[in-house]
Amino acid sequence: MITLYPWLLPYYQQRIDAFQQGYGHHALLFQAEQGLGVEQLLSALGHWLMCQQPQHQQPCQQCHHCHLFQAHTHPDIYTLAPIENKDIGVDQVREVNEKINQHAQQGGNKLIYVQGVSRLTEAAANAMLKTLEEPRPNTYFLLSAEASAPVMPTIYSRCQTQKLAIPSQESAVTWLQQQTTQAIGDIQTALRISYGRPLHALALLEQGLLEKRREFLRQFWLFYRKRSPLELLPFFDKPLLFQQLDWLLAFLSDALKARLQIHTHWLCQDLAAGVQQLSQQQNAQALLRATEIIQKVRTDLSQINAVNQELILLDGLTQLITDVFEG
Ligand SMILES: [Zn+2]
Repeated sequence: MITLYPWLLPYYQQRIDAFQQGYGHHALLFQAEQGLGVEQLLSALGHWLMCQQPQHQQPCQQCHHCHLFQAHTHPDIYTLAPIENKDIGVDQVREVNEKINQHAQQGGNKLIYVQGVSRLTEAAANAMLKTLEEPRPNTYFLLSAEASAPVMPTIYSRCQTQKLAIPSQESAVTWLQQQTTQAIGDIQTALRISYGRPLHALALLEQGLLEKRREFLRQFWLFYRKRSPLELLPFFDKPLLFQQLDWLLAFLSDALKARLQIHTHWLCQDLAAGVQQLSQQQNAQALLRATEIIQKVRTDLSQINAVNQELILLDGLTQLITDVFEG
């Protein structure tokens, strides 16, 4: 049996149905947020396409192609992905183009995975376009792109595109309960602050990050009380920096919601007392300004050379004091 996260199963079934009924598309593009496991969907579809004698919706697991697939040694499968986080270059695409113009070494289908379509350079995308436009027989493309990343319209229009939905909260919680023994309250919190993405939530739970989040926000609260940026600074943890800023943003925007009498869809329900307290002490304009400042810090940090990290943080925290808390 193919292993698939439950929220991916309907997409798999739909696509396989289409192939079985003879109208499967040669280039399938899936747009998905990180933390939904889109790679697993691509792999499962690829396995079915390579199998010589699939049993209904399942690859047979017996044929030579299945064995090669499972050993990751199938010579007619190619993967285009960023190498060492560099964009996918035109040479990589040309190399694959050359190979798919030859006969399949195993006499079956040929398969090209493209992981991160928006990471193709313009030249690479153009080189791929021709193969996408004039599909060769028995050649399939399975592509993925991050939901928020732009895909070149020329590529987009040659593919059958589908956006993966965030699973329902109920089904995500059920799945998480099967993966971890942690308390239901923590599972729900992890899922909320992961914006519903189950794999992201599981990673938070397994790495003990909920505890780190509470501690970090506790330190933020002390900073708020004492107005001392230099005391909060050491609690920013380089590998967790963006998560920490996201936790802080969630806390601040919940306080803004509370101030505006919006009591649903809070991300920090587990810290409701702190959220309420901040919302009573700061007006809506101040809370909005606070989220803007932290959002700007986050953007700057993602764009600017890491050498300045501490300065950017310090500047943002100082602005919180001057513009918001004492503004
Ligand atoms: Zn097979």
